[in-house]
Amino acid sequence: MILVVAEHHGGQMHRATWEALAAGQALGLPISVVLAGHDVEALASQLAEAAVTQVLVASDPALANYTADVYVTALATVIPSAAPTLVLAAHTYQARDFMPMLASRLQRPMVPDCVALARDGDGVRFTRPMFQARLLADVQPAGPAPHLATLQIGAVRADSLQRGGAPAEVVAQAVAVSSSDVRQQPDAPFQEARQAVDLGAAERIVSVGRGIKGPEHLALVQELADALGAELAASRPICDNGWLPMDRQIGSSGQTVAPKLYLALGISGAIQHVVGIKGARTIVAINKDPDAPIFEIADYGITADLFEIVPALIAALKKP
Ligand SMILES: Cc1cc2nc3c(=O)[nH]c(=O)nc-3n(C[C@H](O)[C@H](O)[C@H](O)COP(=O)(O)OP(=O)(O)OC[C@H]3O[C@@H](n4cnc5c(N)ncnc54)[C@H](O)[C@@H]3O)c2cc1C
Repeated sequence: MILVVAEHHGGQMHRATWEALAAGQALGLPISVVLAGHDVEALASQLAEAAVTQVLVASDPALANYTADVYVTALATVIPSAAPTLVLAAHTYQARDFMPMLASRLQRPMVPDCVALARDGDGVRFTRPMFQARLLADVQPAGPAPHLATLQIGAVRADSLQRGGAPAEVVAQAVAVSSSDVRQQPDAPFQEARQAVDLGAAERIVSVGRGIKGPEHLALVQELADALGAELAASRPICDNGWLPMDRQIGSSGQTVAPKLYLALGISGAIQHVVGIKGARTIVAINKDPDAPIFEIADYGITADLFEIVPALIAALKKP
């Protein structure tokens, strides 16, 4: 059984929880979800609509505000009795905070920051970037279950989540958090880098690479993005050069995105870039090199000079 750890903030489910659930469902194993917090009935009902066996609710006033201490105490109580083979969470800041501590408390191995999961015999094979994303490694943890893993945001599309025919059973879990478990006083929640744009939520993205030659040509791709109702993004060299802000960078050291349309203009398709777009539904690449690796993952490819194709696309999109 897979146990997905749900994450929520301010009464809202973190959207990556749905991605982790969808990834778990895709493995074809029984799946349940654990929700820790206080006064979380509404969230439990939302989770129960997914095709899961059970929603385990660990509720305690001490869990009203997240701290790693109380989460680990609560989850380390729930997990042994639920007896999952895999405990899966989205690779958020919060999961990065408490999952290693939980793995240590349970004395079980953890595979962080996975980009893919697959069934392998009786177990699960995890794919994750290594050596600063220079390569992707397939990893299989050893030793007794449960194993723990976190899934990179955007690695799986939340819209592939299967809904249940009827609401899943919601089961209250007895968790006793004593005051000695609470060694941290939460400060104001951490604000992720303030972004003018949430690329993770964008449905269409026009992304530009070194093929754009210089910042003076960005207006052209911005015009295409506007005509498509898309957000503008970039490969790393464009952001490193300061031509676009860092929060527009896609890839292993930038954002992971899952748009319906990803238009890659003059991007070669280095592994560090393409791990950030694995969840994109349709990838269209324009590159003048027919052997560019981006064509290996593109659904549609145009081998051409982007300075010829982009103006033609803008003209076609603006045609009344
Ligand atoms: C630790 C580490 C982390 C990294 N993280 C990231 C990351 O998060 N995101 C990221 O993007 N990269 C990342 N990189 C860098 C990555 O390895 C590549 O160097 C980078 O993605 C290349 O960017 P590019 O495709 O824009 O440029 P290039 O590889 O130079 O490709 C430019 C492409 O444009 C094409 N082209 C040129 N002119 C035209 C034209 N007129 N019309 C059409 N096509 C044209 C060329 O054929 C070429 O394929 C990382 C690297 C390391 C080592």
